[in-house]
Amino acid sequence: MPDTREEETKKIQIPDQLPLLPVRDIVVFPHMVLPLFVGREMSVKAIEKAVSGNKMVLLAAQKSLDLESPKPEDIYTVGTVGTIMRMLKLSDGRIKILVQGMEKARIISYAQSSPHYEVKIERIDEPATPSKVLPEVEAVIRTVKEQMEKAISFGKFLVPDVVALIENIEDPGRLSDLVISNLGLKVETAQDALETFDAVERLRKASHVLAKELHVLGMQQKIQTEAKGEMDKVQREYFLREQLKAIQKELGEVDERTEEVQEFRGKIASAKMPKKVNKEANKQLKRLERMHPDAAESGTIRTYLEWMVELPWNKQTRDRLDIKVAKQVLDEDHYDLERVKERILEYLAVRKMKGKMKGPILCFVGPPGVGKTSLGKSIARAIGRKFVRISLGGIHDEAEIRGHRRTYVGALPGRLIQGMKQAGTSNPVFMLDEIDKIGNDFRGDPSSALLEVLDPEQNDSFSDHYLAVPFDLSRVMFITTANQIEPIPLPLRDRMEMIDLSGYTTEEKVGIAKNFLIPRQLEEHGTSSKRVHLTDAAIDQIVASYTREAGVRNLEREIARVLRKIARKLAEGSLKKTTVTPNNLHRFLGIAKFLPEMEQEEDEVGVATGLAWTPTGGDIIRIEATLMQGKGELTLTGSLGNVMKESARAALSYIRSKEKGLKIKPALVSKSEIHVHVPAGAIPKDGPSAGITMAAALASALTGKPLRRDVAMTGEVTLTGRVLPIGGLKEKTLAAKRAGIKTIILPNRNKKDLEEIPTHLRKGLEFIFADHMETVLEAVFQKKRPAKKPSATKAKRPSARKTGQGVATL
Ligand code: ADP
Repeated sequence: MPDTREEETKKIQIPDQLPLLPVRDIVVFPHMVLPLFVGREMSVKAIEKAVSGNKMVLLAAQKSLDLESPKPEDIYTVGTVGTIMRMLKLSDGRIKILVQGMEKARIISYAQSSPHYEVKIERIDEPATPSKVLPEVEAVIRTVKEQMEKAISFGKFLVPDVVALIENIEDPGRLSDLVISNLGLKVETAQDALETFDAVERLRKASHVLAKELHVLGMQQKIQTEAKGEMDKVQREYFLREQLKAIQKELGEVDERTEEVQEFRGKIASAKMPKKVNKEANKQLKRLERMHPDAAESGTIRTYLEWMVELPWNKQTRDRLDIKVAKQVLDEDHYDLERVKERILEYLAVRKMKGKMKGPILCFVGPPGVGKTSLGKSIARAIGRKFVRISLGGIHDEAEIRGHRRTYVGALPGRLIQGMKQAGTSNPVFMLDEIDKIGNDFRGDPSSALLEVLDPEQNDSFSDHYLAVPFDLSRVMFITTANQIEPIPLPLRDRMEMIDLSGYTTEEKVGIAKNFLIPRQLEEHGTSSKRVHLTDAAIDQIVASYTREAGVRNLEREIARVLRKIARKLAEGSLKKTTVTPNNLHRFLGIAKFLPEMEQEEDEVGVATGLAWTPTGGDIIRIEATLMQGKGELTLTGSLGNVMKESARAALSYIRSKEKGLKIKPALVSKSEIHVHVPAGAIPKDGPSAGITMAAALASALTGKPLRRDVAMTGEVTLTGRVLPIGGLKEKTLAAKRAGIKTIILPNRNKKDLEEIPTHLRKGLEFIFADHMETVLEAVFQKKRPAKKPSATKAKRPSARKTGQGVATL
């Protein structure tokens, strides 16, 4: 390659007319050596012409790449004269040539257009570069060189000798041509450089183009590194995870963990959870998977997942709503209770007709041991559902029903969800015991949570704080139980249909014992009725002397005690067969715990018989009044509540106002201290219904006339002596009957309530209805038996009667 332009110009003689070779996609610069493939007919002809002469052609760029036969206007006018250095004919008819750019020339006109273009040209004289390089030109040259180096570092200009070439070139024109021709620019841009004849100007343009190119290259590289970085991160994570797995495997951890996760996954899939629940379970499972097995939280998640997979989201038993079968089952399990059974069967019948139950919830109300729970179990058995029971007694905290949020240490679901897990199906018979014993305080109101549970409109998405997903309780058949109706919060009461089970008479208890308790206990003790027989009289005796209750729980316990003793003797072989009678009963149960009331004592002055309602049923209560020397004080003892104390004062005021009529000694009251005591002293009592009883006791103490012990009474008294109605009539009547009372004095306004008490309960009882205290006193003072006057100082022995726990309402 010649060293300088001057030398070249001297050597080369360029003719005025040359064959034209239109070039596509490239602009040929002087000094450039490049191979070209020539395929077009016209072009081949032009080459052939050139080769046969001075080997020169004019290489001019085509404006548009895809024109097959360009017209003169499609070809740029400025081009480069090139010498064909070598030519090779290819087998497909094309020609490969190696050309070298010589000089820039401009087409003046087209001399011929066939078989190839011949053009008249003129040489372009570029302004000569000053021999002394100006500093600003030097600056451009350096900039371009630096830019080139940078571009090379980006991997551009892979032609190896370009690097070496740049080092040596100091001519701005040649440098710019070298740069432009090697950048692979668009034809337009390259042509623009070709037509810029001022060398320095051209170099500036080259620098400009290079700067742009470098910017693009920089961006390109940035994108590439970013993409690579992304890939690296994913790969790194994968690699680390694999490593971790390997380490865990080495430590024997991996198997347990994967196994556990796998197991949960399977269980979640088969738990038939609703979509939302399933999503949450899987989310937590993913968290567990990612966590270290020893992390404290993984334990919490595990417990949570265990709950989730074990809950009966969609597992159901099929109902058997056959009323006949249901009746049979109820009869099989329970003696009598005809009215209750009727109500239950009606309830089931409605359910059968209506399908999904939206009606009220049954609430069995009555003292303990009357069969509330066992009725619930029977209902479940009758319709083929599972049975669960939870006690609400003493629940103060809403969280007991709804559970604690998982953020609390040791959090668990509430009792409802626990019950559901226990049931294992989503449609059990669910008994909520002691609904009258829930309280409410600062810890929230459990009854409002219960309202949601018992509301058929809301309970299909019951929210438990622990689960944090809704649980469907709508298929559950809820049954509640209570000892009393009054303490149940009103909104809850509205949702429920009350079914009264008030307690059994002695005859009924004997019936239950004979038909149910004894056969069951015989079986439990491994004997049969063939070897052990309890006579009716013996059972009667157990009821009367060994138990005092409304239900039959203690009775069953005492029967079990008898059978235990007998079973031992049978096992020892000292007995073959035995009959239990009242005469030998003490051998099994020891001495009688309770004496029948009537045999115990005689009519006394100042002792009135009242009737009380207690949580365990009714009871009779002996209220005592006695006089001592004093200054008209009234002392009240026996753990009395305020209402009862006020009632005692009202009773005293009434009696004092009737001093004359009752023939009470004048000034007796003001000279005495009057003491009223209500046994049993340790049991708290309250309520106004002992009013007439206290008035009777006071009247007796002040007049010295004895009161009939076989007359029991209940009723509120006013200052003027009117008798007001009371509650708990049925329980009180039963208690009176148990205690051998013959006559009961009731407020006249309770007369209508008496109709609710079955006739067989009323049998043998005389009822006196009083509107006024006068009627009461008339009835209790009737002389029947000779009286024994107690001494004023003699303290009365509290009766051995058990009143049960809780507040007695009088
Ligand atoms: P509650 O739930 O009312 O406290 P339970 O249902 O626990 O009472 O009853 C106590 C026991 O008495 C149970 O063994 C039950 O079978 C029995 N029982 C109660 N009433 C009857 C009845 N009418 N017939 C047969 N057994 C009865």
